[in-house]
Amino acid sequence: MTQVTVVGGGLAGLACAVALADHGIAVTVVERSDRLGGRASCWREPVTGDVVDIGPHIFHSEYHNMLAFLKRLGTDDLICWQPGKVLTVASKPRPTVLRHYPLPAPLSLAPSILGAPGLGMHDYLSMLPTGWRGMRFGEEQVPELDRISGLDFFRSLGVTEDLIDWWWRFASMVVTNVPLERVSAASLMRIHAQLSGYRGLHFGFAKVGLGELYTQQAVRVIERAGGRVIKGRGVAYLSGRERVDGVVLADGTHIPAQQVVSALPPQDLSATLPRDWRQQAPFDVLPRFEPSPYVCVYLWFDRDIKAERFASHLWSPGRLNYDFYDLCQIRKGWRGRPTVIASNIIYSHRAHHLSDAEIVRRTVAELAEIAPRAARARLLHADVHRVPMAIPCPTVGFEAMRPRARSPMPGLTLAGDWTRTRMPCTMEGATKSGYIAAETVLAERGVRARLAIEARMYDDLAGLARAAVPGRSIP
Ligand SMILES: Cc1cc2nc3c(=O)[nH]c(=O)nc-3n(C[C@H](O)[C@H](O)[C@H](O)COP(=O)(O)OP(=O)(O)OC[C@H]3O[C@@H](n4cnc5c(N)ncnc54)[C@H](O)[C@@H]3O)c2cc1C
Repeated sequence: MTQVTVVGGGLAGLACAVALADHGIAVTVVERSDRLGGRASCWREPVTGDVVDIGPHIFHSEYHNMLAFLKRLGTDDLICWQPGKVLTVASKPRPTVLRHYPLPAPLSLAPSILGAPGLGMHDYLSMLPTGWRGMRFGEEQVPELDRISGLDFFRSLGVTEDLIDWWWRFASMVVTNVPLERVSAASLMRIHAQLSGYRGLHFGFAKVGLGELYTQQAVRVIERAGGRVIKGRGVAYLSGRERVDGVVLADGTHIPAQQVVSALPPQDLSATLPRDWRQQAPFDVLPRFEPSPYVCVYLWFDRDIKAERFASHLWSPGRLNYDFYDLCQIRKGWRGRPTVIASNIIYSHRAHHLSDAEIVRRTVAELAEIAPRAARARLLHADVHRVPMAIPCPTVGFEAMRPRARSPMPGLTLAGDWTRTRMPCTMEGATKSGYIAAETVLAERGVRARLAIEARMYDDLAGLARAAVPGRSIP
């Protein structure tokens, strides 16, 4: 019998398995795909031979759990940080460059936004109540804000329609992957408070393929502790009646285990549960987690098109793409090559009826609005990834559905970006969920360990405002 079986070899499962291996536990990881990494994976693109990710991903400087995981695996130096410029937004008629000015949090980005075309003083002043709410935001506000949409919330605070259309519709799509009229105000405000509350918060990108940051390194740690990683064989169902006592693979193999960690997305977890459990809380809500799909596009040009490293279009009802990345300014050893661009079509339903060729044509045209040389360059190759789920949609009521790591089923612990982590569904949230699951497993074995890192207090003015909320010391 293995000590612990972890189902799912994405970030959450591997972070959990590595943490348990570090406590001397022999873990069996079972991953359905031939490739580890799940929604943060990469592979070699067959025509060009380049390693591409499932889609481009962003890290930021407050990803403490993810960065601790990479440090443990010796790969934390493989993030390309962008400390000065945060993001170039392709506003018209001129771009808006978001950069930090030497002002206390949460004001450091304000001067960049004050220069944005199309907005006036009336719009900026309408933002003040939201800014104040963001500075005082903490998890105790989640249940109340989770009941209303971001759009209703900002309207109730008096934000002008111009500012809603310019900033909040864009922010909602790029940070929560859901339109503003559907997003939980709690999910959106949590990210807003994080992004504005920390001095000099900056973004980073993987210098290598995403999976190259952690998958093979994690396997080595797991195997050194006496565990194993089974790839290409999915779990059909969890075994046991009163207590989960193992997993049964699709080919009928039974792997008995003292404890099982599910690090599966909600829909996959649901499929592995005994029928009568599916009706019971917290599993009864699993079918209500709705995927936010992406289409990710990779473009290989014949020349340097002088693109920004990281730029994004604003929200518009007709456009497909939001964020564009010049991988030659990110990937180790790619500098000087003809441009390779990656882009994200977020909440991509509007692209699903289009052929790959049409998606590529429109993506090049949208890129050319930001980097005009793209229109004159020859496209050598393109690759379109249709991703069924980037994250579960944080729509109204989402936060209330997120289950805790400790499940009501003895022997079963839950992990995954969508579980209750006090974080958005991100690589950081997935890693933290893996650590929380490992803490839970260890606690059941009588070992107390603090593995998950909580968000720290906001900086500067944001920190003072938050600390003034009675009895609150952390967000
Ligand atoms: C295109 C895209 C862009 C993104 N951008 C960002 C970003 O910029 N920043 C950020 O932080 N996050 C981003 N994310 C989200 C981030 O990738 C996820 O939050 C994170 O990877 C989720 O990890 P996880 O381990 O919880 O789940 P998953 O990665 O989904 O892992 C679950 C694993 O379980 C396996 N599995 C499923 N069923 C079974 C079964 N029956 N038996 C065995 N195994 C099974 C799956 O194959 C998978 O490997 C993005 C995601 C995508 C797809």
